[in-house]
Order: sequence, then structure tokens, then C-alpha cells
Amino acid sequence: MPITPFHFGPGALIKAAVPNHFSWTVFALANVVIDLEPVSLFLLIGDPAHPWLHTLPGALAVAVAVAVFGRRPCEALLRFWNRRLSPGQARWLAVVPDISRTAAWVGALTGTLSHLALDAVMHADVEALWPIVPGNPWRGALSLDRLHLACILAGVAAAAWWGVRRWFVLRGRY
Ligand SMILES: [Zn+2]
Repeated sequence: MPITPFHFGPGALIKAAVPNHFSWTVFALANVVIDLEPVSLFLLIGDPAHPWLHTLPGALAVAVAVAVFGRRPCEALLRFWNRRLSPGQARWLAVVPDISRTAAWVGALTGTLSHLALDAVMHADVEALWPIVPGNPWRGALSLDRLHLACILAGVAAAAWWGVRRWFVLRGRY
């Protein structure tokens, strides 16, 4: 996608559904790292291409790197986030800063693999399942407007779900 944050919406929905076994922060980091490929190529050669990391082996390699090396920095980022909150804000916005190994691996793998799935619909040069399936038969399976809308709606639904859960937690009814 031209803007990586579109990928964050579906991840937020997974986080709302299984908050204890999925790290959204690691998921987001995996999406940012994999998109360093088109961003770097655009800066180097003027073409935001997806030749290596946007393939199955490339995405798995990014997931492994992010799961292994990204967990501690993500925990540090969450602690930093918590420290910036006032007591009133913390009631709603404080997060659990510890990320289990499982949550990191699930976040990293779903991050890069869902990234491939969404990008394959959008970019002709993304060979998501190379070398098992050459080429890109999924390009255009969904219109770009619908794809973007689905990602935004997933994020909005996740925020609403999260807000309702917090509301019940704060009132001791959940
Ligand atoms: Zn991408």
C-alpha cells in the first residue's frame, strides 16, 4: 500500500479479538520494516518496487527478524507511551508493556503475511506466494477504494471494541 498505516486497521481488529496473544506493536513494526523495501528502492532508483521482501520467503525473513529483535524495542516504546500519559489519560489509554514471545511471533507473522495479502491485491509486481505461485493472480480482486475502506472500518471497529471493553473494565463489570 502507498501508506503503510492502512495495514494497521486489520491488526487492531485482531488485537481487539485476542489481546493477550497478539502484539499490535510488533505487527505494526513488521509492516513498517517490510515497506522499507519500496521506500528504499524509490529513493535509490525512483521505482517503489517489491522484488524481495514482498514474497513469501522475504516476508517470513522479515517476520523472524522482527519477532527476534523487535520485541524489546516495542516493549520500551510501550513503556515510553505509558510514561507520557497523565493519570486521567492512563485510565483509558495505558497499555500492558510486556510482550510475550508468543505475542511477538504471532504479531510479526500476521504482520508480514497480511501485508503480502493486502499488497498483492493492490500492486501488480507483488508476487506474494513466489516461488510456489509465480506472478500475481490476486491483483484487482477488490477495488482499491473497497480495500482502503475495509482497512479503515477494521480500525474504527477495533477502536470501538477497545473503548467498550475499557468502559466495562473501569466499571468493574467485565
Ligand atoms: Zn508493502
